[in-house]
Amino acid sequence: MLPAPLVARLRSMVGVEGVIDRPEALLVYECDGYTLERAAPELVVLPRTPAEVASVLRLLAAEGIAFVPRGAGTGLSGGTLPVGAPVMICTSRLQRIEAIDVANRRVVAQAGVVNQWVSNAVRAHGLCYAPDPSSQPACTIGGNIAENSGGPHTLKYGVTTNHVLGVELALPSGELVALGGAVEDRPGYDLVGLVVGAEGTFGIVTRATLRLVRLPQAYRTFLAVFDSVEAASEAVSGIIGAGLVPAALEMMDQLIIQALEAAFHVGLPTDAQAVLLIELDGPLAGLDAQSERVEAVCRRNAAREVRVARDDVERAALWKCRKRAFGAIGRLAPNYCTQDGVVPRTRVPDILRAIAAAAARHRLRVANVFHAGDGNIHPILLFDERDRDEVARVLAAGREILEACVALGGSITGEHGIGVEKIDQVPLLFGPDDLRAMTRLRAVFDPQGRANPHKIFPDAKVCVETRAPRRQVAL
Ligand SMILES: Cc1cc2nc3c(=O)[nH]c(=O)nc-3n(C[C@H](O)[C@H](O)[C@H](O)COP(=O)(O)OP(=O)(O)OC[C@H]3O[C@@H](n4cnc5c(N)ncnc54)[C@H](O)[C@@H]3O)c2cc1C
Repeated sequence: MLPAPLVARLRSMVGVEGVIDRPEALLVYECDGYTLERAAPELVVLPRTPAEVASVLRLLAAEGIAFVPRGAGTGLSGGTLPVGAPVMICTSRLQRIEAIDVANRRVVAQAGVVNQWVSNAVRAHGLCYAPDPSSQPACTIGGNIAENSGGPHTLKYGVTTNHVLGVELALPSGELVALGGAVEDRPGYDLVGLVVGAEGTFGIVTRATLRLVRLPQAYRTFLAVFDSVEAASEAVSGIIGAGLVPAALEMMDQLIIQALEAAFHVGLPTDAQAVLLIELDGPLAGLDAQSERVEAVCRRNAAREVRVARDDVERAALWKCRKRAFGAIGRLAPNYCTQDGVVPRTRVPDILRAIAAAAARHRLRVANVFHAGDGNIHPILLFDERDRDEVARVLAAGREILEACVALGGSITGEHGIGVEKIDQVPLLFGPDDLRAMTRLRAVFDPQGRANPHKIFPDAKVCVETRAPRRQVAL
């Protein structure tokens, strides 16, 4: 139990409404988008400013108390699960976009600013913030930085790390440090690059300077329809192999197509085995020629139909389907677990076969909706959490899929991070020396191991099981 005087001091720092300790209110914070493991924190603290984040961390440092950062809680690998960390620090009141610099194409945003708000704020200037996770109406800039998030349009534009110029980080000691800055390149080590993707293990990002890009002059958006997943995969390789770089190249399989059509009624072909959502963007000149080449590659690879969105309304309808795909899954099963792995683009057909085989072996239904152009797969394993045997099979199938990714020359995460979910798979990629080096690096920022402890590295998992008796594992 946290001492009452400490809780009182936190209240005096962030206001009465900025500290949550009622058990029923804490339930909201017991998991993120990865729902297979749950544990409520003892206390949630919601600072209002970066300075308050630093004050809270200084107090926790003095008491030797560990903490877990949280943005919107949309993470899909259990990064916000409080394991051995009684205090959760939530950035949702750090909501200010502090500066918009149109001429230099950058913004300064606090960590709790929602991704979509950034583009909304600069659209009138013909600019946008390119990383666009499908969760962008909810997820925060701080969470995006912690996970190095991607999105459908990161095939052409790059992931979060390519769009962060600088961060302010509240170290676990409570010191605020500015890393990077407002200009493109700086001498010295790339400390911003280290913080992006650190999953909250270096401290709490409080604000960031983000790069903006110009809105494209024009778009061409296609839906290519295929009678086999293999043919769709070959078309993906064909498009990239032809030297074309679409802004987005997404694949959806039959199960998800059917769920989407039932949800949104946009005329998706429910008998197709796979569709590709392809978007080209850029200057108007040349776009039609590129479109013809994309269509030709799709037809060469047995697309039975290539539909072009005729206007912004049709384009928006197609993107609504893709970006709300996860919402439509509620029609298929009470629960789902989204896996996240990467393979070289040319191995997409192989990994899709491995996914289907793992699902069959474990008697599970699986839907696929993913960033095919990046080779970033997202098999969605459907289950009912009340069926404990089915939950065990979901976990086993997930492990096998990630092993297959590594065997095909890929990796165990493309964008969702390790969190707690994939700790056991980390040794598939890193040997003991690598892990020791990374643990030492982490200690530079957090010598006492109080920032989001027991995450990312497998040694930590051993500690979790012995030192976090309140942790509930749905198995
Ligand atoms: C429907 C749906 C679709 C999604 N689509 C995508 C997608 O297309 N691409 C993609 O990459 N991800 C996607 N995600 C995953 C998720 O939205 C991203 O990982 C997102 O960046 C998490 O942001 P958040 O604010 O919700 O962070 P949280 O879930 O609150 O936290 C995620 C991690 O970041 C840490 N953290 C949060 N804030 C900070 C901070 N200020 N400083 C330091 N650490 C911090 C937490 O401790 C945790 O480890 C999707 C999730 C859902 C539910």
